[in-house]
Amino acid sequence: MRKYIRLVGLCLAIFCSGFATQCFSQSVAIDPVVSTPINLKDLKVITRLVPPFVLKDNEKYEGFSVELWQAIATQIKAGSHFVEKANITEILAGVKAGEGDLAIAAISITSQREQEFDFSQPMFDSGLQIMVRSDNNGGFSIGQVWSILSTGAMPFLLGLMAALIIIPSHLVWYAERRGTSHFISQNYFPGIWQAAWWAIGAVAGQQPDSPASKWGRILAAMAILVSMVFMSYFQATITSALTIQTLKGDINGPEDLAGRKVGTTTGSTAAGYLKTLDVTPTEFTKITEALTALENKQLDAVVFDSPVLLYYAATQGRNKVQIVGPMLRKENYGILFPRGSNLRKPVNEALLTLRENGTYHALYAKWFSATQLAQ
Ligand code: GLU
Repeated sequence: MRKYIRLVGLCLAIFCSGFATQCFSQSVAIDPVVSTPINLKDLKVITRLVPPFVLKDNEKYEGFSVELWQAIATQIKAGSHFVEKANITEILAGVKAGEGDLAIAAISITSQREQEFDFSQPMFDSGLQIMVRSDNNGGFSIGQVWSILSTGAMPFLLGLMAALIIIPSHLVWYAERRGTSHFISQNYFPGIWQAAWWAIGAVAGQQPDSPASKWGRILAAMAILVSMVFMSYFQATITSALTIQTLKGDINGPEDLAGRKVGTTTGSTAAGYLKTLDVTPTEFTKITEALTALENKQLDAVVFDSPVLLYYAATQGRNKVQIVGPMLRKENYGILFPRGSNLRKPVNEALLTLRENGTYHALYAKWFSATQLAQ
């Protein structure tokens, strides 16, 4: 009987543990990994033009990412062809729809993209920066003039200037009102305007007429002395404000982008970043279109990936554009795969081998060295 009870107990235990495993495995969210068979002989590689990572010369693709991929393909003994998309949004949609086995261009690894795709190991250090025209030297728009007049000691000095006109003009009119003066009327109007005109002249260091009465002259002498001291101080302050404005330039960092015309590419991480600053960017398909719009003064700034901007500043945009301000956000580029792709591991191994055997370094030097950029 005891043996029988033990047997029933054992069966119950096995049943329960099986049930528990079943329940547990149902409660853990396991991602449905799609590993479609991959044809290594002809991989479809989605890309887009983004110099110097992907360029097209006479229908032939070249650039850092293109050549890095070609080296990886040789390493993993794969054949491949490129499928070109217009922008990063189309790249992501294409990989998701299975139109390609992977994508390589200047694709930033982000937490949001990582939720839907797989990335290789980081293949390039990047980040976002601001580019402006080389003549971004402040200029003197109404906005800049207003900012000079409304900051620092300027509002106080302007108030003092008004006081130096209003107070002496009243005092001088009062002293001269008995009619001794040939240029100030006895009546308050227009006498006060004539006295004010005289006081403005005193502030500016020009007095064609002078009061005739004793008190008028004493007051005028005092007003002229105070005005001289005031004017030297005022001139020094405004000169330094104008010099700083000229040296500083118009856009110097992310804080200067609000209310400006800023361009970037459709669906890029830069577009997302700008929206967090409450700046609505003009989104272009190609980054070169945004950079041309900047040169043509249709934009005030372009915010985009720093290696792309640096390459442009050193080549086509030399002497026309410049990078300003700090790195806004660091990013890394990766090779993009559909979720659960079998290609990720061999590609990662190949990437590491290429870094170890110097191929990566040679490619980097080819596309980013000072001599290459100076050509
Ligand atoms: N690094 C940018 C991104 O991944 C590139 C965008 C682009 O190619 O336009 O969003």
